Amino acid sequence: MKSPNKNPFNHIETIAIHEGAEFAAAHGMVGTPIYQASTYENNPEDEFHKIRYTRLNNGPNHLALNKKLAVLEGAEAAVVTASGMASVSVTLLATLGKQGHVLLPTALYGGTYGFATEYLEQLGHTYAWIDMDDEKTWEKNLKPNTRVFLIESVSNPTLLVPDYKKYLAFCKKHKLVSVIDNTFLSPYNFRPLELGIDLVVHSCTKYMNGHSDVIAGSVAGSSIWIDKIKTMTNLFGGVLDPHACFLLDRGIKTLALRVRAHNQNALAFAEHLSQHNDVERVIYPGLKIHAHYERAKKYYVGSGGVVCFELKGSLKQTEKFLSSLKIPKIAPSLGGVESLIGIPANSCSGKLSQKEKLALGITPKLIRFAIGIENIKDLILDFEQAI
Ligand SMILES: *Cc1c(COP(=O)(O)O)cnc(C)c1O
Repeated sequence: MKSPNKNPFNHIETIAIHEGAEFAAAHGMVGTPIYQASTYENNPEDEFHKIRYTRLNNGPNHLALNKKLAVLEGAEAAVVTASGMASVSVTLLATLGKQGHVLLPTALYGGTYGFATEYLEQLGHTYAWIDMDDEKTWEKNLKPNTRVFLIESVSNPTLLVPDYKKYLAFCKKHKLVSVIDNTFLSPYNFRPLELGIDLVVHSCTKYMNGHSDVIAGSVAGSSIWIDKIKTMTNLFGGVLDPHACFLLDRGIKTLALRVRAHNQNALAFAEHLSQHNDVERVIYPGLKIHAHYERAKKYYVGSGGVVCFELKGSLKQTEKFLSSLKIPKIAPSLGGVESLIGIPANSCSGKLSQKEKLALGITPKLIRFAIGIENIKDLILDFEQAI
């Protein structure tokens, strides 16, 4: 798919700052104004599709962001939504059609897991769990109505990386819509559409916005799919408010700088842990010891800002360690400038049964560290004093 960006100044740092701004420009203002409006005047003879109304995703702040997101992803089109889950749910419903079937990896973001298990059947669809590293489970679970195969570029919290060659060949062979949740990497580290994946979704709450102060989502892909997804978003109602659009647009301007800093901090931190006597295991795709290191190296600019690890000793000691840290806050989420830490077994993966968690390597002591862009020396010093 060709990027709609005809601009010769097409590096991601430049795109993130300038792309789309023309849709919201006013009065020579250098920054982007906030069009805090629900509705806009129109001419009496205008047809319905000309109506400008904020829920229809066509205010100036939406148009600016939709363009920026499309160019960032190298997509024909993109749409911003009210949350990552609005993007995931509507993308699945749009691509599943009527009574569709979707393949989902067992290691899946908790919200997507919840949406699938609690609502897909109620909405007339079915799903099957597959193991990303066992192609036989993909084949075995195919049905005549399988239409979609959703994956994640880095799984949460075990940080597995898909085999894209096999995945794309499989989707092509069986005419499945390929959908990837690229939240953990952002388009700075990976642009899945360039590989031939059909649709990319993001929780823009995370790296895209980057400041832990907005809930938002996005979907990018071909105009045909994005038109359908946009219409569906308008009718389901998960449309982003103009003020939140403004914050997200502003956050994206520093995406490249921030994600580079996250990558560097995460790698340095993971390397420090991998040589530490008090650390039982460390998971980071940028480390040579990670099972999917070669894949991450081949496809990703960097492996992102999430590092998972387990300390030696008891669960009590792990909890003591967490509460002794001074810099990271104990909180769910990731992708903000500030470091966040927590135990996925009781937070984002809390919906899974004990058996499911252990099968995925989510042990009770596993720590997920969403590293911020503080100075790495301070983060390591803090780790050392806490341990
Ligand atoms: C956070 C997250 C989501 C959901 O995003 P919200 O903005 O919280 O709705 C979806 N997928 C992944 C991988 C996430 O980390």
